[in-house]
Amino acid sequence: MDGLTKIWDGIVSSFSGHLHFWQVIGWMGNCFFVTRVLVQWHASERRREVVVPVVFWWLSLFGSWCLLAYAIFWKRDLVFIFANAFNWIPFLRNLMIHRQDARSRLRCQNCQQSLPKGARFCLSCGFSLESATSPVSTMETPQRSSSLT
Ligand SMILES: [Zn+2]
Repeated sequence: MDGLTKIWDGIVSSFSGHLHFWQVIGWMGNCFFVTRVLVQWHASERRREVVVPVVFWWLSLFGSWCLLAYAIFWKRDLVFIFANAFNWIPFLRNLMIHRQDARSRLRCQNCQQSLPKGARFCLSCGFSLESATSPVSTMETPQRSSSLT
């Protein structure tokens, strides 16, 4: 209980005076990390399955960079620096993998649903994708099948 009191006193005292720039960065890092957990939890509750939305990795990346900067420039503590020195690498890599996956996906020509590569029909509307082999592009215009409209 004494430890919790010290932590609480530290939080209160860091807000009671003026916050240094690097303390603001450190608190932003904490906010990113708390927000990423809430976002991931919300997404999983909505889908009723464990989901990791892409914004989770962005929040993780920014949070880890903020905490690394705080550790280097304000805390100047090797334990804090080491704790945040490398964890941004898998966050960045997951974003790269997600981007590659998104580019390789197909888009249903009927309902614009994003589909895994190799899909032969739309999982959402049942539209046949036998002729749709081009990757997802934001510049594509919807091409509706006249037989289904
Ligand atoms: Zn479809």
